[in-house]
Amino acid sequence: MNLSVDVILRFDGNFLVNDPSKVKKPNDNSDLPNHFPLLDRDGKVLLPASSIRGALRSQAEKILRTIGGECAACYPDDKGPRKACDTVYSVSDIERKLCPACKIFGAPGWRSPIEITDFTPSLKGEGSRVDKQEFLAIDRFTGGGADGLKFNATSQFKPTLNGKISVDLAKLVTAGVGGWAMPL
Ligand SMILES: [Zn+2]
Repeated sequence: MNLSVDVILRFDGNFLVNDPSKVKKPNDNSDLPNHFPLLDRDGKVLLPASSIRGALRSQAEKILRTIGGECAACYPDDKGPRKACDTVYSVSDIERKLCPACKIFGAPGWRSPIEITDFTPSLKGEGSRVDKQEFLAIDRFTGGGADGLKFNATSQFKPTLNGKISVDLAKLVTAGVGGWAMPL
């Protein structure tokens, strides 16, 4: 059984998920912007599923470490006191090898019970107009404009993005997370 929730995100300011392939590189004198939004194939702004998943996982890890200490969740980048969980090859590995964050959000060999879609504009016509803003970094010492630190960013103002989050309840049971992870 799957539990699905439609999620609407209403941003109250400028929205930008940077697309590094469309921006100016170091020592590049072209007219390309310094920051440019990731767009879908229709040219509309996009909040990719991976970004939402990363934000949710990061928050879950913080909660786990607050409750259970620094080693309650692994550090997938191996830059912490508990190294990344090992690859899963069988169902019995899930309980034995994975920390609670990996059981819920996935690990090598274990697909997450939580499915997240990309988030895209809901309204027709929304999301295709983006605005460029110019910025000037401030020198902390003098309080004036920092030399050579003028930059710009292209973003969309106050978009409303729709997406869906689904939880595979049977897979949560397979993960052996017990009642604490059940969204009921
Ligand atoms: Zn882990």
